[in-house]
Amino acid sequence: MSTLEIKDLHASVETEDGPKEILRGVNLTVRAGETHAIMGPNGSGKSTLAYAVAGHPKYQVTSGEVLLDGENVLEMEVDERARAGLFLAMQYPVEVPGVSMANFLRSAATAVRGEAPKLRTWVKEVKDAMADLDISSEFADRSVNEGFSGGEKKRHEVLQLGLLNPKFAVLDETDSGLDVDALRVVSEGVNRYRASGETGVLLITHYTRILNHITPDRVHVFAGGRIVESGGPELADELERNGYQRFVQAEQKAL
Ligand code: ADP
Ligand code: MG
Ligand code: MG
Repeated sequence: MSTLEIKDLHASVETEDGPKEILRGVNLTVRAGETHAIMGPNGSGKSTLAYAVAGHPKYQVTSGEVLLDGENVLEMEVDERARAGLFLAMQYPVEVPGVSMANFLRSAATAVRGEAPKLRTWVKEVKDAMADLDISSEFADRSVNEGFSGGEKKRHEVLQLGLLNPKFAVLDETDSGLDVDALRVVSEGVNRYRASGETGVLLITHYTRILNHITPDRVHVFAGGRIVESGGPELADELERNGYQRFVQAEQKAL
């Protein structure tokens, strides 16, 4: 069984005034088959956690570890992270003009699998996965994320998730900008991916509404750059009722 371990992770973001510490000791273990939700107010550092794990150049890990089955993820190049089985969907996906979705997905699958998927079976695989997500077939010919609506970008992320079948997926604000129908389709996609029971999901979100569709095993409250409370799905219900205020106040007092 695979395990993703984040140990006492500290990270800074590069700003105009120099580095600014955002993550202040994040500890988290996700096992294959588990879904963990990370919830917190805007600006608490949730995306920074995703970027730090992804290896985004603007985010410097200053101490701590990220281990995938004991292997140090932080020493890997970004493409090695993908090959090792990590999938990181970003809050603001990049546009890649001139590269069609079909080609992009095939290159991504080649990078992860170590060999190019056979063209005939691949075309069918992609078509089926697109149909599952109510994505129209013309989408395959469009440039990656160029002119995509918010909902289309999110569907694209979940399409990749299904096709690449990583060990662990970090999904940052997969629910943002989705209407009710798109939220349901995207959530069903994530649930299909989870159904094997062999994969782990770290679902980062500000709102509780996606958790009505995707039931997490654990919920962690993120405030001031670290996890300040953990619990079961009922913790999300409490956040829905009472918001983040008590956690933010406790963090401010502690500083
Ligand atoms: P969240 O995803 O929880 O809303 P972020 O990780 O995006 O939080 O941001 C955490 C803090 O780091 C915020 O105070 C934000 O302003 C700051 N921050 C993040 N990225 C940058 C950046 N590129 N430059 C300057 N400040 C940043
Ligand atoms: Mg933010
Ligand atoms: Mg964010």
